[in-house]
Amino acid sequence: MNFLSKITGSFSTPSAANPTVAMVEAAYKHHGLDFRYLNCEVLPKDLEAAVKGARAMNWVGFNCSLPHKVEVIKFLDGLGESAKLMGAVNCVVQRDDKYIGENTDGKGFLKSLKSIIDPAGKSIAILGAGGAARAIAVELALENASRITVVNRDQNKGKDLVDLINNKTKCKSEFKDWSTKFEVPDHVQILVNATSIGMSPDIDARININPDSFRKDLVVADVIVNPPMTNLLKDAKAKGCQIVDGLGMVINQAVLGIKFWTGEDVDPEVMRKKLLEVL
Ligand code: NDP
Repeated sequence: MNFLSKITGSFSTPSAANPTVAMVEAAYKHHGLDFRYLNCEVLPKDLEAAVKGARAMNWVGFNCSLPHKVEVIKFLDGLGESAKLMGAVNCVVQRDDKYIGENTDGKGFLKSLKSIIDPAGKSIAILGAGGAARAIAVELALENASRITVVNRDQNKGKDLVDLINNKTKCKSEFKDWSTKFEVPDHVQILVNATSIGMSPDIDARININPDSFRKDLVVADVIVNPPMTNLLKDAKAKGCQIVDGLGMVINQAVLGIKFWTGEDVDPEVMRKKLLEVL
């Protein structure tokens, strides 16, 4: 290690597995960037001290994973547009000696989706209303999606996201209760799973949805990284739909973070290769 390397990293809880470290370090190495990416285990009670420590050590930025994404905001100096709307930060960037909170989760998803379909003017159904769903819904709305249907078990959480989109963006949104098997309505052109259903180790878990309602022209996206080919995506493929896996989202959000911190556009393929190696 060069002792003058600029430091970036991640504040995670002790239990969080973090494949991002290997991926980001692979990109730094491939592009000869004199940066390091360190994963630091930070308990919620120590978050303020950790941010102070990063400032003291002149870190150029860091990622925050759950449960720090909301709490970190009060220790920062400002927020980017989508982070402000979502009320959640996953990427902190040093700008003019200030720490600004950004959210690259939704942006990473958007980049991945746009390689298949432009969401502008489209009707989209999102399964889930947690952090990933909020990040994705806000970015899709800012990208001029015409209608977003939020499908969730917990009504309060679902309706909260719907209100956010209706009140803060030009996109129309509605809530769909998820107590019965979800049938994809005819108007929906893009379906996004933003729940954790199907994530390792519960890879056989089935989403409460009827695959017979998948039309051939429907694009189906999943946020799950491990395994990349979920049961939902298998079903969608079998119905002839185009699919978007969760690897693209995690890789693109890292590409965006590195751009924020170093100013460099790094090769996503280098990171995809490393990620598949470590998963
Ligand atoms: P949250 O805990 O914030 O939200 C989870 C959501 O999933 C909630 O809406 C919850 O519904 C729903 N849910 C969970 N289990 C079920 C179930 N059995 N049936 C119906 N709904 C269910 O998690 P996140 O939003 O942060 O993360 C969700 C997934 O996204 C995770 O798998 C995570 O790994 C992935 N992710 C992927 C990223 C990537 O880069 N690819 C980035 C960020 C996250 P309810 O509200 O009713 O409880």
